[in-house]
Amino acid sequence: MNKGLESIRKSVREITPYSMAENRYQIKINQNECPFDLPEDLKQEIQAKFLSRAWNRYPSFTTEQLRRKIADKESVSSDMILVGNGSNELIQIICSVILDSQSTFLIVQPTFQLYAQMGRIFGANLIQIDMNDNFQYPVNDLIELNQANKIALQIYCTPNNPTGSMLTLEEIEAILVVAQGIVVIDEAYFDFHQETALPLLEKYPHLIVTRTFSKAFGLAGLRLGYLIAQPEIVQEVYKAKLPYNLNLFTELTAMTLLDNSNLVSERTRMILAERDQLMHALSQVTQIKVFPTQANFFLVQTPIPPDELFQKLLGEEGILVRNVSHNHPLLADKLRISVGTPEENRTVIAAFEKIFNKSSEF
Ligand code: PMP
Repeated sequence: MNKGLESIRKSVREITPYSMAENRYQIKINQNECPFDLPEDLKQEIQAKFLSRAWNRYPSFTTEQLRRKIADKESVSSDMILVGNGSNELIQIICSVILDSQSTFLIVQPTFQLYAQMGRIFGANLIQIDMNDNFQYPVNDLIELNQANKIALQIYCTPNNPTGSMLTLEEIEAILVVAQGIVVIDEAYFDFHQETALPLLEKYPHLIVTRTFSKAFGLAGLRLGYLIAQPEIVQEVYKAKLPYNLNLFTELTAMTLLDNSNLVSERTRMILAERDQLMHALSQVTQIKVFPTQANFFLVQTPIPPDELFQKLLGEEGILVRNVSHNHPLLADKLRISVGTPEENRTVIAAFEKIFNKSSEF
């Protein structure tokens, strides 16, 4: 027995690690990424900028230039922005300055798995309540829980991963009115729906909004996220951020992409049009049920065991989707599909038609 293990908190030792199998695939629609890489000429332009800079020097300490660009885009001041190595890092940092064994952390399931993971790592009193059967947020229950408890932190993802469902602004406001601690609205998929909690920031200074460049902006490989909050909250969260958490290459790329925002909006429009076609075509496959969504992914309910359908899609068709069926009882018969390129989506539709038409026993 390694004596060192006893030093590691019991709450950590009990956790199953967040994991991602490395599968071989032809079509990758399992991580809600943007299916399009940056155009070659833009990559070259960024690479040239990167090559002209000194790699032996630390990147910007304040990240002021990037934060100012993001602040301009969001019409807030740059002291309301904190940038991180993906929004994952910001979620971790937020949790680290709030949660301990004395604090209560509220989330709704099923949602992004990292929240619960962080709650456990920091040993918080984690309250998890379920969404309604049709994946709507149980807003009245959330309000009641807030009235009965001092909840230090609650995080809601909207549109929610993996259900695609939303909290409306009115619902978020109703929660903010009764919340006695920090409320985080994770807007990782904001660009696909364009409804944001940002206008609530002025009236409700206990709100934090998080965003990412990993989805609509197509920079998942470079890791950039940001949060927006009142300066006094940013100043506190900032203390837990490691110096130089953002590398030079990511910073340069993000600045260039922010100067090319029409590229992102054009691609987002294309992804949404593709999503609607893909969902419509799959909903014609009578054996499966397609769930409504406001994001670039959606759930399908399958009459055959999801593990089996997952393997069929991967093994026979080379299509890698997300098997969320073990994540939560409400997902037990479901898989999550992200929208791919037009060509990939045609292949996905053909694969579903083939699998379900030929298998009359289902
Ligand atoms: N929030 C949600 C809801 C997500 O789905 C993801 C990525 N799967 C993230 C945050 C993290 O994104 P990143 O760290 O790449 O910014």
